[in-house]
Amino acid sequence: MPSKTLDQYLQENLQDLKNRGLYNVIDPLDSANGPIIEISGRELINLSSNNYLGLATDERLKEVAIEAVQEYGVGAGAVRTINGTLNLHVKLEEKLAEFKNTEAAIAFQSGFNCNMGAISAVMDKNDAILSDELNHASIIDGCRLSRAKIIRFNHSDMDDLRAKAKEAKESGQYKKIMVITDGVFSMDGDIAKLPEIVEIAKEYDLITYVDDAHGSGVLGKGAGTVKHFGLSDQVDFQMGTLSKAIGVLGGYVAGKKDLIDWLKVRARPFLFSTALSPADTAACLKAVSILMNSTELQDKLWENGRYLKKSLKDLGFDIGQSETPITPCIIGDEVKTQEFSKRLNEEGVYAKSIVFPTVPRGTGRVRNMPTAAHTKEMLDRVISIYEKVGKEMGVI
Ligand SMILES: *Cc1c(COP(=O)(O)O)cnc(C)c1O
Repeated sequence: MPSKTLDQYLQENLQDLKNRGLYNVIDPLDSANGPIIEISGRELINLSSNNYLGLATDERLKEVAIEAVQEYGVGAGAVRTINGTLNLHVKLEEKLAEFKNTEAAIAFQSGFNCNMGAISAVMDKNDAILSDELNHASIIDGCRLSRAKIIRFNHSDMDDLRAKAKEAKESGQYKKIMVITDGVFSMDGDIAKLPEIVEIAKEYDLITYVDDAHGSGVLGKGAGTVKHFGLSDQVDFQMGTLSKAIGVLGGYVAGKKDLIDWLKVRARPFLFSTALSPADTAACLKAVSILMNSTELQDKLWENGRYLKKSLKDLGFDIGQSETPITPCIIGDEVKTQEFSKRLNEEGVYAKSIVFPTVPRGTGRVRNMPTAAHTKEMLDRVISIYEKVGKEMGVI
C-alpha cells in the first residue's frame, strides 16, 4: 500500500469525523466563563463549566493575581528545580497540605500533567495498576506512561476490584501494585467507594491514588472526597486540580513528606516544564484560603444543585444517579441528545451534550453543571426552558 501524505491523512479523517457527526466545533466565548456567557453576540445561561464555586471570576482572586503580576511579573522564568520556585509556590504547597490535612504537597501546572508526572514517578514496568474503567483520560495516559501492567476493573465494582487485586498479589509477578480512581466521576456525578477501596488496599498491600478533580471544593467541606469519607491519613496520593472548583489552573498531589520529596526529584513535568505563573499561583493560594475559612460557596453550590435536580426530576426527566451537584439529563439516543442540546442553546441555555464514545451507547445526556454563581432566577429560567424543549421533543 502506498504511504499516505499528512494532508491525505488529515483530510480523510476529518471528513470521516464530520460524516459521523463526531467533529466537535468549538464556540469561543466573548466573555468570562461565568454563570452567563456571551457567544456570537448572544447571552446564554452557562451550565457547562467546571467553575463550581464561581471562583474563576471572583474579585478577591483577581485582586491578588494583579498584585502578583506587579510584584513578580507574568512568568516564573524557569522550571521549579532550577530557579522557577517562587516563595508563592512554596506558600501554595504549604496551604494545600494544610487544606488536605497531609504532611506535604506538590503543585503542577495542570491536573493533566500532574497525573502524567506523579504516576510514572512511582510506578514502572515491574508493577501493576488497578484502574477503574471510567477513570479520566489523564489517569489512563499517566498509567500508560509508567509502563506498568494496567488491569481495568468494572466501574465501582468492589467485587471485581477485590478479585483482581487478589489475583495480582498472588501471582507474585509485580513488585508494587496501585489502585487508582477518580474521587467523583464527572459524567454521572457518582462518588468512588473509597472506604471499600481503602479496605481492599489494606488487604492486598496496594498503593492508593485518588484523583479528586471533581470532588475538591465540592465534597468534604471543600477538602474533597477523601475527607468526606474521613480517610485523609489512609490514601497515599490525594491528587487534585486547581482548575475546577479552585477556579484557576494547576494540579497537585498531597501526601506524606517522603512521597512529595520523591515527586520533586522524579515527576518530569516538575523538572522539565516551567512553573505555574505568579498570577495563577497567587490566585490559587487565595482560593484555597477562602475554602478553608468558609463553606458559604459550597453550601450555595449544593443548594443550587439540589434545586436543579429536584426541579428536572419533578418535570419527569431522567437525571441518573448523581450524588453531587453534577446533573446529567439522560435523553438516550445520540442524535436526539444533540438536537436537545441545540434547542436548549437556541432558547438561551448552554449545556453540552455528551454521547458515545464518552458515555455508553444509548445513554446520551445533556450534562448540567450548576455553580455557586447561578442565581435562583437563572435556574428558574433554565427549568422553564427544559420544560418547553422537553415537551416539544417528547422527552417528558
Ligand atoms: C479535569 C480533570 C483532570 C485534568 O485537570 P486539569 O487541571 O484541567 O488539567 C484530571 N483528572 C480528572 C478526573 C479531571 O476531571
